Amino acid sequence: NETNETGWNLVNSYAHLPETFFANQKPTPVQSPKLCVFNKSLATSLGLNLQNLQNHDGVAMFAGNLIPEGAEPLAQAYAGHQFGHFTMLGDGRAVLIGEQITPSGERFDIQLKGAGRTPYSRGGDGRATLGPMLREYIISEAMHALGIPTTRSLAVVTTGEPVLRETELPGAILTRVAASHLRVGTFEYVANWGTEEELQTLADYTINRHFSDLEAEENKYLSLLHEVIKRQAELLTKWQLVGFIHGVMNTDNMTISGETIDYGPCAFMDEYDPETVFSSIDRGGRYAYGNQPGIGQWNLARFAETLLPLLHDDQEQAIKMAQDALSKYAEVYHRNWITGMRAKLGIFNKEEQDETLIADLLGLMKKYRSDYTNTFRSITLDRLEGDDLFGTDEFKQWHMKWQERLDRQEEMKTSSEQLMRKSNPAVIPRNHRVEEALEAAVEQEDYSVMERLLDVLSKPYAYSSEQEEYCELPDPSNVPYQTYCGT
Ligand code: AMP
Ligand code: MG
Ligand code: MG
Repeated sequence: NETNETGWNLVNSYAHLPETFFANQKPTPVQSPKLCVFNKSLATSLGLNLQNLQNHDGVAMFAGNLIPEGAEPLAQAYAGHQFGHFTMLGDGRAVLIGEQITPSGERFDIQLKGAGRTPYSRGGDGRATLGPMLREYIISEAMHALGIPTTRSLAVVTTGEPVLRETELPGAILTRVAASHLRVGTFEYVANWGTEEELQTLADYTINRHFSDLEAEENKYLSLLHEVIKRQAELLTKWQLVGFIHGVMNTDNMTISGETIDYGPCAFMDEYDPETVFSSIDRGGRYAYGNQPGIGQWNLARFAETLLPLLHDDQEQAIKMAQDALSKYAEVYHRNWITGMRAKLGIFNKEEQDETLIADLLGLMKKYRSDYTNTFRSITLDRLEGDDLFGTDEFKQWHMKWQERLDRQEEMKTSSEQLMRKSNPAVIPRNHRVEEALEAAVEQEDYSVMERLLDVLSKPYAYSSEQEEYCELPDPSNVPYQTYCGT
């Protein structure tokens, strides 16, 4: 049968949770699906058949026109704090078709984003447009290659139907692959509108799916809280170290698995400045680069609140447990950040003054508006040119202190250089490069620019000569760059 020929091996455990957790919802068929991008290496690791997925029936599945065997399509219910305000949300334009069980026994959500209206669509049309879906594809795959936990992108199809935004745009559907789509907002939904029994069901499901080694813990719900806090602290560290700005860190866009999710208005910082904001809707700078770690903690406090009834029968005790757990966030974040920053500077061991050394460099980068990625790349390559910063006496003094610091450790300079090459990506998805790839794809149906970009972004730590042109900064006419929420 078709399913076996394509390699889909789907179940849907979420469909067997309490019925208030979701709405059964099939994708709305589209006129003439066409495959634009297909992630062959991801497909292979999922146990899918490359050939058959690219033929007629395979593409029909990516479009939601054909439902693979084993799928039980549904839209998930969730709530969330959006820019601090609590509201009911849910999958308004996404359908979870099921969970793929891979040949090695792993389980991944398969979601079609842009698959039509659902009971949670409110005023929306349930559809997505090509540019933003390709953008999510590019940036999520770049994040994966950078070693940052993230949802993945398996395919993008165009629907052959126009979608009305400010103008008519080509409709598209992204097949998103995730460890799960459980969010802080999922817990907020059940804690607010469900029973305590349902909350426990959700927590048990989550533990079983993502934290099965906690099953035997004495207070497994407290352990769950600690684990989620740890994973998110680690994730936030990774974002900060590469200069990734999510742009819309609402609690519905924060996963329980610790994966980055929802690539709407995100972008990578170019000039180093903690106040950097790209999103047009983030006028107050709530989700600015420098605020991200704190917002992570704020979101986790919302998560902790949902778990209170499960932590302890006595509410005061429960609150104390939650506060203790939350206080670990800053510790884990800071420890990981310092370790990560030391690695970016080729430092293996610990010295008290390292924090000052790091802060001094960042201070100079801010003062001279240095490009974040390229500064670390330049010092990795010891090619100190091309930035105002490098010619200054302040930098020369910093550089001397840094060299003395490296001399004080046992490891040789070559080991430091290797560590730096592993810790400082030579390429990131630069905003003007992403735009150029999207423009060629959307306006010319020319996917070669995007394919080349994807190839370069798949090896961010290669330090190869083919990357050079992707390190170049945008023409000043292209800055400041602005992003828009996924449409
Ligand atoms: P996001 O900003 O992508 O995190 O989405 C916030 C909420 O808006 C989610 O509940 C989405 O499902 C919903 N949403 C976004 N775009 C649409 C659309 N075109 N149609 C229906 N719902 C949408
Ligand atoms: Mg239901
Ligand atoms: Mg979202």
